[in-house]
Amino acid sequence: MTLRFTNTLTGKKEDFVPLDPEGRKVTWYACGPTVYGPIHIGNARTFVVTDTIRRWVEHLGYDLRFVQNITDVDDKIIRRAAEEGIAPEEVAEKYAKMFLAHIELLGVRPASAHPRCTQVIPEMIDFIGKLIEKGHAYASPDGSVWFSVRSFDGYGKLSRKNLDDMREGERVDPEQQKLKRDAMDFSLWKAAKPGEPSWDAPWGQGRPGWHLECSCMSMRFLESETIDIHSGGVDLVFPHHENEIAQSEALTGKPFARYWLHQAMLNIRGDKMSKSLGNFLYIDKLLERFDALTLRHFLVSAHYRTELDFTDDNLELARKSSRRYADAWHEAVAVLGAEPDAGAWKTSPACAELEERFAESMNDDFNTARALAVLFDVVTRLNTARANAEKGAGDTVELAALASLLDFFRNLLGVSRSLEAAQTTGMEDLSGRLLDLLIEVRNDARKLKQFALSDRIRDRLAENGIVLEDRADGTRWKRES
Ligand code: AMP
Ligand code: ZN
Repeated sequence: MTLRFTNTLTGKKEDFVPLDPEGRKVTWYACGPTVYGPIHIGNARTFVVTDTIRRWVEHLGYDLRFVQNITDVDDKIIRRAAEEGIAPEEVAEKYAKMFLAHIELLGVRPASAHPRCTQVIPEMIDFIGKLIEKGHAYASPDGSVWFSVRSFDGYGKLSRKNLDDMREGERVDPEQQKLKRDAMDFSLWKAAKPGEPSWDAPWGQGRPGWHLECSCMSMRFLESETIDIHSGGVDLVFPHHENEIAQSEALTGKPFARYWLHQAMLNIRGDKMSKSLGNFLYIDKLLERFDALTLRHFLVSAHYRTELDFTDDNLELARKSSRRYADAWHEAVAVLGAEPDAGAWKTSPACAELEERFAESMNDDFNTARALAVLFDVVTRLNTARANAEKGAGDTVELAALASLLDFFRNLLGVSRSLEAAQTTGMEDLSGRLLDLLIEVRNDARKLKQFALSDRIRDRLAENGIVLEDRADGTRWKRES
């Protein structure tokens, strides 16, 4: 079974064949965040789904090196620094740390390297110098440097646009226009403005343009002028990735990346997230309302190439669905008396067949939606096997096999048990914590044999639609469905 996925460069689903002649090593560069605030749920979609795809690529046995940058010099960071009254470096540092902490909460593993733009300034200066030498770039009198799109034949091959179409839709900044030879030429080096971070360069003090860092870091941290996979949200296809291709291939004469992988956008209640609508949903606030498992489940529930809509109904559905498999596992373990061995499913023919269906879905353009459907087939069978075992009729070997398969699938998608820690706090953080407190008081009352009080707490909660379940690993609560 070969892995196939859609390559934006050809617009087709292709077999994945790594550059490595032995077919083992894989290099992947993913565009990371510009750190001027907490990440929003759209960024989180791209990062979470990328992590799920990465887990699958690694599961197939590839030796993957995965690099994701952090943009720590940019107009937006400089603007935020002025608003917060601190230095741009402090803004970048604060939000870079926050980014790493937030993705960890969502079960996204850190990249092999997370280089920052400011780490590759000498490489970028060198890169620009070579492009000027080769006639692909030029400095303007103010000390800025521009890439000449006319000098690169393949410009537009990723976004499948031609230069004349691009120009029509372009908003031209009259100040910049005076400095450029062609309206589409893009910035490699921005001349310094007072009070902004800047570095010395042969053509004048300044800072790098945004597109350049990704080309430099990809070559340096993946140690190759051509890499296997380059990814990001679909909003980056033009101009960011088109420009990366132009500057990299103009320099090396080699293909920059062989497979381009793009995530579709996440919208909020049918609308694009935008400043004018003021509808940005930031991950720190969302983690107060929803547990990490619910959020991650929601983000991987759609195929990565279809748009996903954030609505209250979709989140409620994700909460219920993720709770279904979390509960199924705990109930199975309670009957088994212990967690099953991780590989218990390997000896079961029924599990092998389910595993094959899961693998087919993931190998077919990383279809997480279909893979989740297979996971829910496991849940249905697991619940039946558990009910039979409870009646004394069932086979606990198959029960253990199905439970271990469920856990295996969850880890592959990253909707793992480790994200359940906060799950008992449910939708509303405060009410969840108060509920935990009530449960604690009830359990204390039971220990003290004050059964009238403990029963009263349980009954009053039941009247409010909250059902308590006492298990070997403690008391859990459920909303009555
Ligand atoms: P940025 O910090 O804006 O460069 O974005 C970081 C990553 O998040 C990039 O890969 C973007 O393509 C991606 N991204 C931004 N907005 C969205 C969105 N609404 N839905 C999905 N991905 C997004
Ligand atoms: Zn990039």
